[in-house]
Amino acid sequence: MKKTIVNLCRLLLGVVFILSGFVKAVDPLGTLYKMQDYLLAMHLGKWLPDMALLAFAVGLAALEFCLGIFLLFAIRRRATSRVIAVILSIMTPLTLWLALANPISDCGCFGDALVLTNWQTFWKNIILLAAAITVVKWPLEMFRFVSKSNQWIVINYSMLFILVISGWSLYDRPQFDFRPYQEGTDLRKGWTQMMEGNESPYADFFIEKADDGEDITEQVLNNEGYTFLLVAPWLEKADDSQLDLINQIYEYAKDNGYLFYGLTASGETGINRWRDITGAEYPFCLTDGTTLKTIIRSNPGLLLLKDGTVIRKWSHNRLPNEYDLTSPLDELEIGQAPDNTTTRHIVEVMLWFVLPLAILSVTDRLWMWTKWIRKQHNSNCIYKKETKMRKKIVAGNWKMNMNLQDGVALAKELNETLKAEKPNCGVVICTPFIHLASIAQFLDQNIIGLGAENCADKEKGAFTGEVSAEMVKSTGAQYVILGHSERREYYKETPEILKEKVLLAQKNDLKVIFCIGESLEEREAGKQNEVVKAELEGSVFNLSEEDFRKIVIAYEPIWAIGTGKTATAEQAEEIHAYIRSIIAEKYGQAVADDTTILYGGSCKASNAPELFAKPDIDGGLIGGASLKAADFKGIIDAFK
Ligand code: PEP
Repeated sequence: MKKTIVNLCRLLLGVVFILSGFVKAVDPLGTLYKMQDYLLAMHLGKWLPDMALLAFAVGLAALEFCLGIFLLFAIRRRATSRVIAVILSIMTPLTLWLALANPISDCGCFGDALVLTNWQTFWKNIILLAAAITVVKWPLEMFRFVSKSNQWIVINYSMLFILVISGWSLYDRPQFDFRPYQEGTDLRKGWTQMMEGNESPYADFFIEKADDGEDITEQVLNNEGYTFLLVAPWLEKADDSQLDLINQIYEYAKDNGYLFYGLTASGETGINRWRDITGAEYPFCLTDGTTLKTIIRSNPGLLLLKDGTVIRKWSHNRLPNEYDLTSPLDELEIGQAPDNTTTRHIVEVMLWFVLPLAILSVTDRLWMWTKWIRKQHNSNCIYKKETKMRKKIVAGNWKMNMNLQDGVALAKELNETLKAEKPNCGVVICTPFIHLASIAQFLDQNIIGLGAENCADKEKGAFTGEVSAEMVKSTGAQYVILGHSERREYYKETPEILKEKVLLAQKNDLKVIFCIGESLEEREAGKQNEVVKAELEGSVFNLSEEDFRKIVIAYEPIWAIGTGKTATAEQAEEIHAYIRSIIAEKYGQAVADDTTILYGGSCKASNAPELFAKPDIDGGLIGGASLKAADFKGIIDAFK
């Protein structure tokens, strides 16, 4: 249930962030205009230059899109969900202010693609915030589509893709046009509706001659044939790099009897300046500036109308040239309304982005699946004789021995030895905290697992001297010993404390080696079974079957630890069999059969073969004898 809810929240957030980032990326200028509206509403006016706002718009789109993708692919689950929660906790009060004060009618979250009222935006954010809190609480419940080792491909590809989309949209024009003047729009119809008093997005569309103020909107829209409109909201800021091409198009229009007007919101000075710079001979008309920004995201841009319908739009970087304008427009492809460009662009996005990532996910899953099958096959081969799935492990517990240099040297020696002669069992070394990060750098963890000897029972905070499970994990370690009798006795670790530690260790993906065992008095009183049962019940039997399966149990009679007194193989087997039976009672026989139970207590190369030969002893937790590579190797070789 928890998993389902978390994954539904993750899906919702992922899709919303992807859409929100994508629609901003296809129209960076639209986002820039919206931000200018916000700054005006906050009386910050020209606080930031347009270039900085544009860079921010592109960055914002990329951030939202990538966060959505990361969440959808469960990449850096904890960090991604936290960043999303932080963004939403800032945005939600802001949208409440928008809803209450109403300084802007549309928040612009989804560009022009989906226009929400301010209250709709606020409630949308409340739902998203709730979803974000859910994923922040249980980030590890999000399942992966791509394994960790291949995530860099998704990260880099998504960033590249969204930046290319923004860049291309700025150079050309929005690849998806959600505004009222998109190609194929019949402006006559919109104009007639507006004249009849119906609500229309074309209410601010008018064309007035710049010289005498005559309104020629109707005349332009009713023109039978082609009309070129050079749209330049502000001539003072218009890009004049294509002035020759624009003049050539004007000449072409004149030669073929097509109308050609320049539309601008600039006054006489702006028009005269443009004429001086470019030698423009075409007539200029005045139109509302916001309408011109809506018509085309390019200053200047070119619009081609045919019988009052928008059939083509070009940014100044992509104007038609002499090779395109070779004959009259009705004989040319550009003189006809294009096929559905939205469908074409959707197919392009599918082919360039969705398909490669889908192929990556499927390949990755297949690769993981074959790896898993191979692993199952191998473990079946190793343990075929016993028909058990459980892993054999020899784990070292260095305790409080070795300074950093000696510890690194020992780990290196072990690493080289076992790389040269592969062990027949899992090998783990559990070291003091200070060694972990250094050893993790060179240890081949496919052969030797690395673990800590303890971790804190608190997640983080003011607990001077403690080391959290997350910190242990961050060093590169995979294991942690918990419940060792020395910690229970000298540091008063109770079953409740250990229960917390186990939960935190598992939350941080650490495999727990959980120690249990009776004291000499308890054994002499015949209470060993009672003791180990209580220890399991007190700290690990609260776990779900799935989580219990990740635990390795280490039975260590306290009277045998570091004393030189070893339990006989028969004594050890007897209690191991008992431990397995209570696991079976609690979780079923299959789980019991799969649980690795190690023996610990003065285990050496000389007694290991006899102990490990017992059916319920799956290896050892080794203290003193793990401090010399040769001694430890001797115990590992018991599995040869
Ligand atoms: C231990 O402390 O886990 C242990 C088994 O120690 P030794 O092997 O030294 O008895």
